[in-house]
Amino acid sequence: MTPPHPPSRPLVSRAGRYLVIHEESFADAGLSSNVYVTEQDGKYYIFDASGSPDLLSYVEVTGIHRGYIAGVILTHGHYDHVRGLKSVAGLDLPVFISKKDEALMKSTVGKVSAKGFESPEGVAVLESLSLKAVATPGHTPGSTCFYSERDGLLISGDTVFPEGYFGRTDLPGGSDAEMLASLELVSKLDVETMLPGHDMPVLEHASESIRASLACAKSMLRP
Ligand SMILES: [Zn+2]
Repeated sequence: MTPPHPPSRPLVSRAGRYLVIHEESFADAGLSSNVYVTEQDGKYYIFDASGSPDLLSYVEVTGIHRGYIAGVILTHGHYDHVRGLKSVAGLDLPVFISKKDEALMKSTVGKVSAKGFESPEGVAVLESLSLKAVATPGHTPGSTCFYSERDGLLISGDTVFPEGYFGRTDLPGGSDAEMLASLELVSKLDVETMLPGHDMPVLEHASESIRASLACAKSMLRP
C-alpha cells in the first residue's frame, strides 16, 4: 500500500552498525525494499538498492556523501531490490550479486557489471565487514543472506521476514523445497539482529523469529 503523502525525507533508524532506510521512504517509486548501509574504514556499503531510481538522493539525505560509497551488495535480483542501481550507474561502483541472479537483475537495470560473492573482490569486501555470504535459494535461485557471527546479525533479504513470515516461492525460479532447506540452514545460526528485505528489522532474539518462520514454512510448503 502506498501512503497518500510519501515522506520527503527518508525514514531512518539504527540497528547496531547498520543504518536502516525503511522501504516506506521509497514509496513514491512503487514497490521497494529496505536499504541497509554500513561503514568500515570510512567506506560505506549499501545492502539492496531499493526500487527507487533515485536511491542516492535518499542515501545522501542521511549525511553520507556519494563519494564515500564503496559498493552495493544485493540479496537477490528482484526489481524492488535492484532498480536503485540506476542511480549509482555513473559512480563506477562494484556491485555484488549471486551469479545465479545476475540475469534477473539485468532484466530490470540493463547492462551493469556485477561480481559474484566468490570473486576475490566479493570475498574481501564481505570479510572486511565480518560477513559471510550464505546461499539461500527458494525465493529466487540466487537469493543470499549475509551473516556476521561477530555481530550475531543476519541480512535476510526476502528469505526470512519477522513474525513467522518467509519469502514467496511462487515467482519464477522459486522453490518450496529450496526455501525449506534454506530456512533450516539459517535457523541453525545464532542470530540476535535480523535485517529483512521488507518489514521491520528484528533487534533482539531474531533466532526465535527465524525458527517461527521455519515452523510456518513446514506447515505451508511442500518439501
Ligand atoms: Zn524478492
